Amino acid sequence: MAKPKIGIYGLTGCAGDQLNILNCEDELLKIFDIFEIKSFVMASSATDEESSLDVAFVEGSVSTEKDLEDLKEIRKKAKILVAIGHCAVYGGVQAMFMDREWEKMYRKVYGKKNAVTLTKPLPPKPIASYVKVDAVLPGCPIEKEPFLKLAGLLAKGVIPRHPDFPVCAECKWKENECLLLKGEICLGPLTNSGCGAICPSLNVSCIGCWGPIEKENWEAEAFLLKERGFSTEDIVKRFSIFGGQERAEKLKKYLESKEG
Ligand code: SF4
Ligand code: SF4
Repeated sequence: MAKPKIGIYGLTGCAGDQLNILNCEDELLKIFDIFEIKSFVMASSATDEESSLDVAFVEGSVSTEKDLEDLKEIRKKAKILVAIGHCAVYGGVQAMFMDREWEKMYRKVYGKKNAVTLTKPLPPKPIASYVKVDAVLPGCPIEKEPFLKLAGLLAKGVIPRHPDFPVCAECKWKENECLLLKGEICLGPLTNSGCGAICPSLNVSCIGCWGPIEKENWEAEAFLLKERGFSTEDIVKRFSIFGGQERAEKLKKYLESKEG
């Protein structure tokens, strides 16, 4: 049987997801054995960009015209396109600014001339804003175990659907003491599971890097945090790290309306 052909690509991001694939040390030889890797520039400069792909893994947000061109090319040649990491799935921290005036903010940081990039910058967006995405693996960065599980399913021709229940469920399975009850701002109730509740298991509260669950009850969590004495500013700050601009603005308005 022919090996599935894959490509691993990076747009704008920190390359942490690609690095974590390389960090699969013990399993790396197996990955190279199961798949025919056509492009993975972080691992090898020998690439075949002309080849069609069974699966393309894409890290990073679309933040420049070059990103967009590359993404469209990848989509054209891949049967299955998988967004890996928070930047590709949700836009990443670069898409989380509170101010809608992106252009103005860009100039404030980089000056009037477009001197810092060789391509035209665009407001950072998740890849699904531009092309069809068949599967997602969130995380900042992605974790080894969920990646290997996903790669294994894809090798068998299965396209997995991301589970839609919160980190709290995984936290309960591990019998962790709830950090919300210990007086911390934990975003586990609003965040997609899959990471195995790594942070709360180490007594660190969740900041939401696996992205929001579909039916999140953020009003209830915000109310609970308010009840525990956190300020609107603290709550909105925590929500906005990975939660996105619109969500943070909605939450801010809601909390301010409750303050009367
Ligand atoms: S510690 Fe966080 S993730 Fe765990 S149950 Fe409490 S709120 Fe949920
Ligand atoms: S517990 Fe929360 S912040 Fe930590 S890895 Fe999981 S989703 Fe990300």
